[in-house]
Amino acid sequence: MKYIGAHVSAGGGVENAPRNAREIGATAFAFFTKNQRQWSAPPLTARSIATFKERCAEYGYMPCQILPHDSYLINLGHPAEEGLRKSRTAFLDEMRRCEQLGLDRLNFHPGSSLKEIPEEECLFRIAMSINWALEQTRGVCAVIENTAGQGSNLGYSFEQIAYIIDRVEDKSRVGVCIDTCHAFAAGYDISTSGGFTEVFDHFDTVVGFKYLRGIHLNDAKKGLGSRVDRHDSIGQGILGINPFKWIVQDARFDAIPIILETPDETLWPEEIRLLKGLAG
Ligand SMILES: [Zn+2]
Ligand SMILES: [Zn+2]
Repeated sequence: MKYIGAHVSAGGGVENAPRNAREIGATAFAFFTKNQRQWSAPPLTARSIATFKERCAEYGYMPCQILPHDSYLINLGHPAEEGLRKSRTAFLDEMRRCEQLGLDRLNFHPGSSLKEIPEEECLFRIAMSINWALEQTRGVCAVIENTAGQGSNLGYSFEQIAYIIDRVEDKSRVGVCIDTCHAFAAGYDISTSGGFTEVFDHFDTVVGFKYLRGIHLNDAKKGLGSRVDRHDSIGQGILGINPFKWIVQDARFDAIPIILETPDETLWPEEIRLLKGLAG
């Protein structure tokens, strides 16, 4: 079973996310549990939490169909103590919000060295940040997203993601989200049939499909290995329609949220219909 949707707005409260998802015909959705451009936000109200849960139950969204995304400000591998402390505190708050909403995973970008510390040191910090947050929460899996490797962002190779996972103590609560645009920009050629097979076999060997907790489906505006993170609508970028067809027809991507982060949201209902059709 494929669960297909998009990163929808939670404007006006998290309880609006399931409604926005249903309106576009989605069977999965992503959303921000708080304003993603601010460090702190007021706590979720009891009413907001209750309404979110009621709507998810009413519309048939289970936790395995929902992939909350953390704030872009958070850097769990921050080179400076103050930045690291601030990021960890904000990440823990997001994990707790997911707990309150009855959700089982939180998607985040691993972190950035800001070119101030070696990459390995940054990856190690990220793993320690995850351990720190997992110790203080229950039931929520930390889902590492692969990046395009833009600037000093880490997590652009499967080896880097495996390095982090290796150092997380509770392996049952760490996972991975693969973003198709980021993978391509980082040099993984999933646009051809042979390349697609090779890349995901490599992923299985280095990381393992058992860690896969979500997929971001985005076409790419920039070339293979460009390290530039620019999403395009499905079938309109360099990837073309094929890799998306291969994903929705592949059982290894069953039972996880498959999320569009494509730039033209007016196309989401159509893109979801197209992908559901391809999934058969
Ligand atoms: Zn993404
Ligand atoms: Zn991106």
